[in-house]
Amino acid sequence: MSKRILIIEDEERILDFLRRGLTYEGYQVETAVDGSQGLILAYDTSPDMVILDWMLPEVEPGLDGLEVCRRLRDVGDVPILMLTAKESVEDRVRGLDAGADDYLVKPFALNELLARVRALLRRSGLESPAVLTFADLRLDTGTHQAFRGERPIELTAKEFELLELFLHHPRQVLTRDVIFDRVWGYDFGGESNIIEVYIRYLRQKLEEAGEPRLLHTVRGVGYVLRETV
Ligand code: CA
Repeated sequence: MSKRILIIEDEERILDFLRRGLTYEGYQVETAVDGSQGLILAYDTSPDMVILDWMLPEVEPGLDGLEVCRRLRDVGDVPILMLTAKESVEDRVRGLDAGADDYLVKPFALNELLARVRALLRRSGLESPAVLTFADLRLDTGTHQAFRGERPIELTAKEFELLELFLHHPRQVLTRDVIFDRVWGYDFGGESNIIEVYIRYLRQKLEEAGEPRLLHTVRGVGYVLRETV
């Protein structure tokens, strides 16, 4: 059964980004744009997890994300991931003191958020670490180790994220936009050929011992993980 995640965030661009990304990963998503609406939904629907923005419009005096976090904590132990633009140590401590389980500083890439979501659900016993496989390729998402057959493959953090994304969506063509959202995030202002560069790195590593290609280019669209036919 899919996990239910409540997002409380007033910034529409980020809310859309999260809703799209989490829905795509198979989570059931509810959203609220202020603390009061968020608390009502949380009490009504008992989500498996809450993603909570710190800076919310105070429709009720003092009801910012921190206060919502305290009130959620008063009534239960739902995992809470706080989003914030604040990155000082004191702020982090205040967030955790209010009962947040984890803390993500904006801007962030979707994969970074998905990794935190999985870790929090795992900690609360709702999800177990997975070994993802396709053909002779194996990726252990707990240890971040990859193998082709018995051959171990060393991956950098970004290569791991990229490969994990493909393994979650085998034989499905992933567009450049989807890959970009997932691995680099909504605020990434980097070079436009970054995806090509990383696909090339990954192919080199995956085919180093002459193995058949698994990551294929779909011209003009994107990339797909599939067997070579
Ligand atoms: Ca906000």
